[in-house]
Amino acid sequence: MEERIFNFSAGPGVIAESVLKKAADELLCYPGKGMSVMEMSHRSQMYIDIYDETVALLRKLMNVPENYEILLVQGGATEQFSAIPLNLMKHENGSADYVDSGNFAHVASEEAKKYGKVNIVASSREDGYTYVPDVKNIQWNADADYAYICTNNTIYGTRYIEFPDTGDIPLVADMSSNILSQPVDVSKFGVIFAGAQKNIGPAGLCVMIIRKDLVGKERPITPKLMNWGLQVKNTSMVNTPNTYGIYMAKLGFEWLLGLGGVSAIYEQNKMKAALLYDYLDESKLFKAAAQKEYRSLMNVTFVTGDADKDAAFVKYAAANGLANLKGHRSVGGMRASIYNAMPVAGVQKLVDVMKAFEKENA
Ligand SMILES: *Cc1c(COP(=O)(O)O)cnc(C)c1O
Repeated sequence: MEERIFNFSAGPGVIAESVLKKAADELLCYPGKGMSVMEMSHRSQMYIDIYDETVALLRKLMNVPENYEILLVQGGATEQFSAIPLNLMKHENGSADYVDSGNFAHVASEEAKKYGKVNIVASSREDGYTYVPDVKNIQWNADADYAYICTNNTIYGTRYIEFPDTGDIPLVADMSSNILSQPVDVSKFGVIFAGAQKNIGPAGLCVMIIRKDLVGKERPITPKLMNWGLQVKNTSMVNTPNTYGIYMAKLGFEWLLGLGGVSAIYEQNKMKAALLYDYLDESKLFKAAAQKEYRSLMNVTFVTGDADKDAAFVKYAAANGLANLKGHRSVGGMRASIYNAMPVAGVQKLVDVMKAFEKENA
């Protein structure tokens, strides 16, 4: 068999090897069913059982209260950038408060402007998104239909350390790149959504957790597939869902539960991130890009300060079996995405390779 390398891609990202092996084992025949999950009718009981289990596992992992719906829909996180205003903004004179903490929050706010008034209530854009605006100093607009944050800024490598208290304004959170990486009190949020390809499974699936009172307010013009009320009524099956992606998410959720769930992986994530950040803080060559207080546990961004050296390091790392360490094209430098499924050994190897490179380039 071919050897696997350590993949630090920001997304689609690494998937646990045992999950891939189980999927391979069950590729031809899902146990006892004589066919692949890919071949099952989404209306068949055998598939509905897989769907229901996937939802139940997520509910358990995140402790999702009963007054929240869970949807598993297509279109990735980006489709929700449009679906959120369509489902939550008042049809006339609607408005929403957005915190602009990074590229994806910015793109989401631009999209929402098509449907109503968008207030940027705090932003770190002018400072190159190296931190998350202080949530305690935000003036929320009492008449906003919702407040919007992105909990982990995938490109810049920052995360919210605490979440804002928006009172009666429903808080909507894009958790695409750090869902299931740390314990979260779901009851503090109106809507949580996440594209699956960072911490859940393959791309093409979006996980949604929506407080029940926020369902059914959509504009009449809302496209069918973005209509949360319709999706809830049809258990995410307004059309054929991403059946195989949902099955892969189920395997991922089982894997995480087997490790001890979110609180257990959180300890491991802190440990993995500390391995890297501790080295970055003492290195004379590499330097962490994000402000210390807001450093992401999932996406570690760093630079040498010299674009040629950055490129040389990415090449050196690749030759040592460490893939996809190049930073996002908009910021340069390096980014190591160390999602839940990245083994500790991968992070340790990265630190070792960085140390060797530093020595050779002193
Ligand atoms: C990757 C990412 C997205 C985009 O996800 P798609 O599934 O490609 O639409 C949105 N938000 C965040 C925070 C991301 O990391």
